[in-house]
Amino acid sequence: MPHRKNFLLNRLGPDVLDRISSALVVVPLAQGDVLAESHARIEKVYFPHTGIISCVVETIGGGAIETGMIGNDGVFGASQALDDKVSLNHVVMQVSGDVSVISSDLLREAADAIPAFRGLLVKYDQFFLAQVQQTAACNALHTVQARTCKWLLRMHDLAGADLLLTQDFLAQMMGVRRTSVTEVAGELQKAGMITYSRGRIRLLDLDMIGQRACECESDVRSHYRRIFHSNEADV
Ligand SMILES: [Zn+2]
Repeated sequence: MPHRKNFLLNRLGPDVLDRISSALVVVPLAQGDVLAESHARIEKVYFPHTGIISCVVETIGGGAIETGMIGNDGVFGASQALDDKVSLNHVVMQVSGDVSVISSDLLREAADAIPAFRGLLVKYDQFFLAQVQQTAACNALHTVQARTCKWLLRMHDLAGADLLLTQDFLAQMMGVRRTSVTEVAGELQKAGMITYSRGRIRLLDLDMIGQRACECESDVRSHYRRIFHSNEADV
């Protein structure tokens, strides 16, 4: 069952997953694919197996900053689909990968029919809100270097040590100037923690990256474990 590559879908018991699996389709998505536009209705819900979905807030002045990252530990679009709401963000594939996709209407029907499935999706939404709040605090309070290291650790958890990312993209995700990212990347490379060239960043020393990262990622991970590793979580 390929859908079990997503952590949330893997929480479902065989009966529940069987009931919704006919509505789920596995598709590959490429870096840069747009899953939702700000203020547009959510038509599909995405459960990543691999790759990373990025939620980006855009400002009228042309600025943008990432407020949330979703990998195989989560879902994009479920809470909006449950209430027929629009997307608050521009949502894009940050790292290409496979996802299980279901239409918003079918997801809502399944959640209405299976309250425990709805409960699981609501739980994830609570976690995602916590992640966004932590990101807001992090963006305001922590240095670009600490934030970059935190971000690289998260990327490593979801996509491995070899990342296809330009510094322009990284700067945009973090809401800082390209020169700031270049400076930090140079420091990390000099310290032997990463190498980067032509849109590829390779992580060499996770311990050192962890030492320079702010605490935000580990706080968010602890929160996730508290929510989903309790005994009653399986549906
Ligand atoms: Zn932080």
